[in-house]
Amino acid sequence: MKGVGPKTADCVLLFAGGREGVFPVDTHVHRIARRIGLAPADADHETVRDHLEAAVPGRKCGFGHTAMIQFGREYCTARRPACLDDPEACPMADCCDQVGVYPETGVVEDPAAAHDTDR
Ligand code: SF4
Repeated sequence: MKGVGPKTADCVLLFAGGREGVFPVDTHVHRIARRIGLAPADADHETVRDHLEAAVPGRKCGFGHTAMIQFGREYCTARRPACLDDPEACPMADCCDQVGVYPETGVVEDPAAAHDTDR
């Protein structure tokens, strides 16, 4: 439908349509999945969705989607992820690749850029 993007369509399928196994990818999910290493650093939204839907049980996709958004607002923010100042500040630090996040210099960049430059 014109004006309806993939994320909105996926949210309707998942939350209104009761369709398990659909993992909507918004900007938080896209960023976090690539930073942590759940998806390739240069993955587009659809590729991230493919990786998450393959890894997450269908009945957990709704919780996973909303939990990642909350996590992206409270911890793994776009410009200042919690680990930048304190490696202990993020509960996911032990299992995160920190792609595009450089606590030693304070630099934060899109994981796709880190994939290209390897700082
Ligand atoms: S360790 Fe840093 S980059 Fe990884 S999830 Fe936590 S805040 Fe995000």
